[in-house]
Amino acid sequence: MSRFLHSKYKELAPYVPGEQPKGQPLVKLNTNENPYPPSPKVIEAVRGAEAQNLRLYSDPEARQLVNAIAGYYRLLPEQVVVGNGSDEILAFCYMAFGEDGIRYPEISYGFYPVFSKTFSVEGQAIPLREDFSIDIRDYQHAGKTVLIANPNAPTGMCLHPAQIEDILKTNREHPVIIDEAYVDFGAESCVSLLPRYDNLVVVQTFSKSRNLAGGRLGFALASKELAGDLNKIKFSFNPYNVNRLSIAAGAAAMEDIAYFTQCTRRVVATRQLTEERLLALGFTVLASKANFLFAKPGNISGSEYFQRLRQRDILVRHWDIPKIADYVRITIGSEEEMERFYQATKEILQQAQQEGAGDAI
Ligand SMILES: *Cc1c(COP(=O)(O)O)cnc(C)c1O
Repeated sequence: MSRFLHSKYKELAPYVPGEQPKGQPLVKLNTNENPYPPSPKVIEAVRGAEAQNLRLYSDPEARQLVNAIAGYYRLLPEQVVVGNGSDEILAFCYMAFGEDGIRYPEISYGFYPVFSKTFSVEGQAIPLREDFSIDIRDYQHAGKTVLIANPNAPTGMCLHPAQIEDILKTNREHPVIIDEAYVDFGAESCVSLLPRYDNLVVVQTFSKSRNLAGGRLGFALASKELAGDLNKIKFSFNPYNVNRLSIAAGAAAMEDIAYFTQCTRRVVATRQLTEERLLALGFTVLASKANFLFAKPGNISGSEYFQRLRQRDILVRHWDIPKIADYVRITIGSEEEMERFYQATKEILQQAQQEGAGDAI
């Protein structure tokens, strides 16, 4: 750290992304990327004329992309705000709606508390129930902005839109931001509540269900007024926040509904198979509607399991946070990757059992 850094950032502890290994043939199940490539239509769109046009700035209104999103959700283009990943959209939300503080679950996306520090917003982390579920009563009459990932991460558990509606109803003077990064893997979106709640902001991303994590594309859906606020921030920060290639890629991805449906269904089917297999091996597995499972092995600690998978070139995510240290988060990869993961897991458990039996003698 230099002596020049603004004093308010001296204590800032940045978000730590999951490892992006270079080179090694790893089975990468640690950052919830989609195991399948982008739609062939996306490849075509970025290969075509857009590369020629990189000399020119991108459209600050990203109309092609905004229209594709608005068309898919049957909303007005004025209700859509696009960003350089939904992380940027969330950052805009902190800037725009953080004045009275933001309340979010204690176990949730690790970026929420980091943003609180970055934007000097009073963050209020509310513990989950013992079973990792969210008690909606903790978010009613909050008197401040509410931010909930639904499905939640890293648990994968979700609330029904009717429960979110109960939060929206009792918090009319503040926005309720629902981060739907994983909603396309089997949960129900809150988009249908938009016509009735002018305090709702739905945040989604192209990173997980639309196979474009590297394209950095996220968006918010809200009332015209709320979307206008977010656009005001965007145009006061980085008007060209989405580049030409990503605008073209995002529009093509949004329009290829058949490919999207096929990929998300495959991930869900693999998740179900993986869940059954882990349960049969004695794991505790939380009920996930996301493209990952949060699971606890029966006869070995979370960190030991993580390390033994790592030794077998399989990367999952583990946090040294007491409440979740027994668990690992396993991204659902391709069918082949999950087969390798399953075989490795069986070996690890067998080995642990033998070692345990050895200890007993
Ligand atoms: C992955 C993720 C995001 C961020 O996604 P971007 O890649 O920035 O679009 C936001 N929220 C949650 C809960 C996530 O898991």
